[in-house]
Amino acid sequence: MTDVTFESLGVAEPILRALSAENYTKPTPIQTRAIPALLSGRDLLGIAQTGTGKTAAFGIPLLQKLSIGHVPPQPKQAKALILAPTRELAVQIEESLRTYGRFLNLKLTVILGGVNQNTQVRNMSKGVDILVATPGRLLDLVQQKQVALNAVNTFIVDEADRMLDMGFIRDVRKLVAMLPRERQSMLFSATMPDDIVKLTHDMLRSPERIEVAPQGQTADRVEQKLYYVPTQQKRQLLSELLKDVAMNRVIVFTRTKHGANKVAEHLSRTGVVAEAIHGNKSQNARQRALDMFKTGKARVLVATDIAARGIDVDNISHVVNFELPNEPESYVHRIGRTARAGGEGIAISFCDSSERSYLRDIERIIRMKIEPVAHELPELTEEQRRQQEEPRRPHGHRHGKPHGHKPGGHKHGGHGGREGGEAHNPHAPKKRNGSRPHWHRGRDKARESAA
Ligand code: AMP
Repeated sequence: MTDVTFESLGVAEPILRALSAENYTKPTPIQTRAIPALLSGRDLLGIAQTGTGKTAAFGIPLLQKLSIGHVPPQPKQAKALILAPTRELAVQIEESLRTYGRFLNLKLTVILGGVNQNTQVRNMSKGVDILVATPGRLLDLVQQKQVALNAVNTFIVDEADRMLDMGFIRDVRKLVAMLPRERQSMLFSATMPDDIVKLTHDMLRSPERIEVAPQGQTADRVEQKLYYVPTQQKRQLLSELLKDVAMNRVIVFTRTKHGANKVAEHLSRTGVVAEAIHGNKSQNARQRALDMFKTGKARVLVATDIAARGIDVDNISHVVNFELPNEPESYVHRIGRTARAGGEGIAISFCDSSERSYLRDIERIIRMKIEPVAHELPELTEEQRRQQEEPRRPHGHRHGKPHGHKPGGHKHGGHGGREGGEAHNPHAPKKRNGSRPHWHRGRDKARESAA
C-alpha cells in the first residue's frame, strides 16, 4: 500500500509526465483503487467528496483509454461525456483533464448554461474526445441536433447528489436514455440518497464500489472554531478576524446571494479585496471572481453554497461560515474547502441566536461539539449602533427577548450563556478556558495595513 505509485497502477508515460509536473507524487486512496478498476474497463460507483482527488481518479483512466488507438472524433460527436451540476465544476473538470492530458492529443470542450451557445456549438461542430457539460444546456443542444450522443463510450456523472439537490436528476435520466448501451459508466456522489441509489442501478453495470473519506473525516482534519456573535456584529467580527495575516486565502459562506454581496461590499469598504460569487452573477462574472481569488488578487471569496460547490482552489487557509447552513451536510462540504488533498485547515463559524438549532444539527452529524472561542468585540461604530436600533426579527427572537439570557450574566459555560444577547454588551464575554482573544483594540491600525 505504501509504495503505490501512478506507474505501478498502470498509468501511461505521457500522463505520468503531466502528473509529475503537477507534483502529484503519490496517488490518493480513491485513485489507488479507481485507476486499476477503470483501466480494466469496469464501471465505478465512487462515494467521495471533492478534495479526495476524484477528478484524477476518473480522469486519468479516461484519458488513457481515449489515447490508445486514438481516431479523431466525428462531427458533433463526443466519445466521453462528463456531467457536472455546476458551471464552475464543469470548467474545473475540463481544466484538470487538460492538465493531466497535456501530452496527449485529445480534444476537450465544455458546454454550460448561462452563456451564449454559439461558441459551444462551434466547438462541437468537428466533434470532441471529451465533453464536460451541465445537464440543462447539453439537453438543449442535443435537442437542437448540435450535439450527438450516439458515440459516447464513457459516461461519468459527478456530484450526483448535488444534481439531485439542484433538480437536474430528470435531465440526467433523459441524457442517460440517449446513450449507447455499450459503454463504461461512473458515478460519483458524496452521499447516497435513495434517488441516487436508483440512478446507479439504472446506469451502472456491476460497478466497483469505492467509498472514501466518509462525511466527518474531512472534518477531523479541520480545526473548527465557533464564535457566538449577534447578527449585527458579524461583519465587525469578520473584519477583526481578518486582521490576522494568517488568514490569507479565505472563503466566507453566506446563506443568501444578497448576503454574499453585502459582506463582499463591507470588506471592500474596509480595504480587504473581496469578490462575491453566487447564482445571480453572469457566468463570466463568476469566473472572473474565481480567477481573482485563485490568483491571490482577492484575499476573500464570499460565496453561497451552490456557487461554491466543487470550487477547487488550493491552499485555502480559512473557511468562515458567516451564516451557518440550514443543511448540516453543507457544513461538511464548506469546511472541506480548506484541508484539501490531505492538508489541514481552519474553519470558523459565526452563530447568532437564530442559528442555534442549525448548530445542533451540525454537531450531530460531525459527532462532536465545536468549542466556542471567547472573544470581545470592539466598540460598535455609529453606523452599527444605528443598525442595532433598527428592529429586526430573526426567528427564535420573535418577542425581542433572548431566552436564557440575563443581562450582564455572560457565563459562557455549556449552553447557558450562548445566546445572542451579547449584542447589548459587546465587552462582556472575556474568557473561556483562560484563553485571551487573539486581537485587542488598539493594535489594529498597524496590522490592518499589513493585511
Ligand atoms: P478533487 O477531489 O478531484 O477535487 O481534487 C482535490 C485536489 O487534490 C485538487 O486540487 C487536485 O489538484 C489535488 N490532487 C488530486 N490528486 C492528487 C495527488 N495524487 N497528489 C496531489 N494532489 C492531488
